[in-house]
Amino acid sequence: MADLMEKITSLAKRRGFIYPGSEIYGGIGGFYDYGPLGTELKYNIKNQWWKFMVRQRDNVVGLDAAIIMNPDVWKASGHVDHFTDPLVECKNCHLRFRADKVGKECSECGGEFTEAKNFNILVETYVGVVEGAKRKTYLRGEITQGVHVNFQNVLSSTRLKIPFGVAQIGKAFRNEITPGNFIYRMREFEQMELQYYIKPDEPEGQKWFSYWKEQRWNWYVSLGLNKQNMRFRDHAPQERAHYAQAATDIEYNAPFGWNEFEGIHHRGDWDLSQHSKFSGKDLSYFDEATKTRFTPWVIETSAGADRATLFFLLDAYFEDGKRVVLKLHPKLAPYKVAVFPLVANKTELVTKARSIFEQLRSLDIVTAWDDRGNIGKRYLAQDEVGTPWCVTIDYDTLTDDTVTVRDRDTTKQERINIGKLGEYFQHKLA
Ligand code: ATP
Repeated sequence: MADLMEKITSLAKRRGFIYPGSEIYGGIGGFYDYGPLGTELKYNIKNQWWKFMVRQRDNVVGLDAAIIMNPDVWKASGHVDHFTDPLVECKNCHLRFRADKVGKECSECGGEFTEAKNFNILVETYVGVVEGAKRKTYLRGEITQGVHVNFQNVLSSTRLKIPFGVAQIGKAFRNEITPGNFIYRMREFEQMELQYYIKPDEPEGQKWFSYWKEQRWNWYVSLGLNKQNMRFRDHAPQERAHYAQAATDIEYNAPFGWNEFEGIHHRGDWDLSQHSKFSGKDLSYFDEATKTRFTPWVIETSAGADRATLFFLLDAYFEDGKRVVLKLHPKLAPYKVAVFPLVANKTELVTKARSIFEQLRSLDIVTAWDDRGNIGKRYLAQDEVGTPWCVTIDYDTLTDDTVTVRDRDTTKQERINIGKLGEYFQHKLA
């Protein structure tokens, strides 16, 4: 099973999904670059998330906050004091590990570990132009705080009333002690989050916590993630983050074990209260209906775009005889359709195929072009990157205006009239 990770890592590199970061300089631990197809896949994941979480709802809006904020933000949020992982060092080979992720002795040399000490994983940076007077701050360790510090801005520039949500997608940075498992644990990664502000009472808290758990589960399932490979895991009180009143993870059955890829957290009024205290600004909410003023509670859904990318890839990977197929949901697949002229050296076929290619592209259907080798090889190449449909333009096309459409999952082929092709794919992608 573990070699599935190797297969995915090598496919990702070979076909242009994901490359090791700064590879020509020997790489750098915990950083990866997305290639042409990986960029499309991750973009599609983020885009589907945005549609589902923001555009299809009346009471959720978007935000795009800066990565670098005033360092006081991170004091208020507790990250400067508490954003730590327990670190141990092997007394023999001096490798460092996260204490809660290792056994009793060093996995590299069998050596004994030092006592665990707390290691802060915020990434420091310096801003300013005067040497010696540069201000130390941090690359954000989570995207959450950018939303909470803008709570009053959002309230006063919109007509939102509680309950309402503010959604954001963006990069976060953590100096992870042991990055690993490909893009599962990186030092730079992307989060997709909703902060949902509610009335501060427990029936409301429970109601929205359950609601968002269900919504988030259903979103993954609607994009084809196999339910058998997913589970919720509730946090025990002692493992919850310092602010959390209740927390659950959505975990995936990865080759390296069940692992979290999204957290749903009941954050109470921790964030707004802390920012109010540290900034001296009033971050309360006035409820017109009851004429009361209160500090809202927050239910957060926090997903990793990279972990989602990895798990959608692992889940979609199948070997079927000599073919390797990524059965990605069509909405996530980098290319929706590939267009092939039967042979590359017949001008009439190529011109016809090119016009079909242009027609599909003009409908915003992301389409690939391939005229190399034989059709069988082209099918295999498209299967491996998850293209759901291949369209072949052959000699019959020139007389009857039909093409062959071949389905990735069933490998069945059907003849479709060119005039109906756009509608045929739009219907399947709807
Ligand atoms: P872990 O216990 O794995 O370190 P966490 O509980 O600290 O994760 P959260 O702070 O809840 O993670 O972050 C929310 C989401 O952000 C995670 O579910 C994950 O998808 C993503 N994420 C967090 N850390 C990383 C990382 N180092 N690399 C990639 N994605 C990450």
